[in-house]
Amino acid sequence: RTFETFVNEPNTDFEKGSEVKALQRAIAKIKKDLPQQYPLVIGGERIYTDEKIHSINPAKKDKVVGYASKANKDHAEKALQVATETFKSWKQTTAEERAEYLFKAADIMRERRHEFSATLILEAGKNYEEADAEVSEAIDFLEFYGRSAIKLESDNHDVKSIEGERNRLKYVPLGVGFIIPPWNFPLAICIGLTASAVVTGNTTLLKPASLTPGIAYKFFEIIEEAGLPDGVINFVTGDSSEIGDYLTGHPKTRFVSFTGSKDVGLHINEIVGRTAEGQIWIKRLNAEMGGKDGIVIDETADLEAAAQAIIDSGFTFQGQKCSAGSRVVVVESVYDELIEKVVDRAKQITVGNGEENNFVGPVIDQKAYNKILEYIEIGKKEAKLVLGGNTGDDEGYYIEPTIFIDAEKDDVIMQEEIFGPVIAIAKAKDWEEAIDIYNSTDYGLTGGFFSSEQSRIDQAVNKMHCGNLYINRNITGALVGVHPFGGFNLSGTDSKAGSYDYLKLFSQGKLYTQKL
Ligand code: GLU
Repeated sequence: RTFETFVNEPNTDFEKGSEVKALQRAIAKIKKDLPQQYPLVIGGERIYTDEKIHSINPAKKDKVVGYASKANKDHAEKALQVATETFKSWKQTTAEERAEYLFKAADIMRERRHEFSATLILEAGKNYEEADAEVSEAIDFLEFYGRSAIKLESDNHDVKSIEGERNRLKYVPLGVGFIIPPWNFPLAICIGLTASAVVTGNTTLLKPASLTPGIAYKFFEIIEEAGLPDGVINFVTGDSSEIGDYLTGHPKTRFVSFTGSKDVGLHINEIVGRTAEGQIWIKRLNAEMGGKDGIVIDETADLEAAAQAIIDSGFTFQGQKCSAGSRVVVVESVYDELIEKVVDRAKQITVGNGEENNFVGPVIDQKAYNKILEYIEIGKKEAKLVLGGNTGDDEGYYIEPTIFIDAEKDDVIMQEEIFGPVIAIAKAKDWEEAIDIYNSTDYGLTGGFFSSEQSRIDQAVNKMHCGNLYINRNITGALVGVHPFGGFNLSGTDSKAGSYDYLKLFSQGKLYTQKL
């Protein structure tokens, strides 16, 4: 499996009734065995603690998906020691050996993909397409980082040799990484953050998101089934206050990989910046922290395509993506026409359980639900509500797709990340002013520009300040190896997930020169 032969994993075709049935069977099978018990796994040893994290199905609040064991400081310390010890042997392995575990895990996941989708549907509230696409992305990370690691090892990174010397630059692992994935892509990003660290020769402490430990544990089981040695990934579910800050600040932690909210990311960044007693390195942080992503539409744009992209970018997975298009800026002359098209489409959206493949499902938990509803109240004061704003069936955390128009640049709903199915639309006098409005944000993750004028597109590429700019298409769903993903400003460290260069973040360059 060479770097050049990487192709993205195809998604399931749910037009086929047989695939729909297969997924529904997988859902029924998983449901039968709920709730599950998830242990901590430290150096291969399974530990069930008395204190538990409850993982709830957001579509049915009274259904517990599983109980995850809660690690305390002693567990965290032990896991760190095991990872430190395991690093001594793991760093001696070749990239090819390490990649092989990822490839095996990818094969297992491919075989059992519906089982993974079913878990995402039941634990995170995804629908068929969102869950299935996440499984594809997870497989992609395994295949892509495996191949990238092999390439990284053989690459001489354009180092010149001079006469009488042989010069070589190689990338060697860092040490123990603390991995903190989010709940919104609890399989794909969990795997992306963990696999990239492991395949470059590091050992890890994986602290899955407390809202979605079940799917993370499934990943752990298959990488174990693939034969990964004990202690390379240590599975430590627990509270940030109990083990998160402790492990982030620990002198033996070499790097931290995080995806989550801005506030948590900045908090981690502060701890990472301190030098603990006995620490002999500067810790590295790879942080992806969210966005207030916008789509700009000029008067030459294909408005049908733009309207559809707004729906897909703003409402898929209930807007709970850091890439979500939560702001739209439209040029005056097509403002009303575009809004009509967006609202017409949004009215067709079904809200309900992902098990029945509704377009908009539940938001993740009570806290998110309350917060989104508060933002909707703020929006009602700042702008004009034209659709939604209400809650759905209260057996789950349902909120209707919500659209505000006539929002102003500095409004709270144009500035703060809501992480829910809420879109704010603003008017601009021309495309240049629209780009200025787009750029007035502390974030800079994704952006969209709709126009049919190439010269404007070229200027938009220069002016729109973001890590992932998409022209004339939706702004979510970055593909591994195709759309390296990461943002500017308070969206994070712009670590481009899904790029070849990404692996260098978990390794350090070692130059050696031999006199001939
Ligand atoms: N990579 C995802 C996308 O392109 C978003 C990841 C996130 O929300 O953290 O839509």
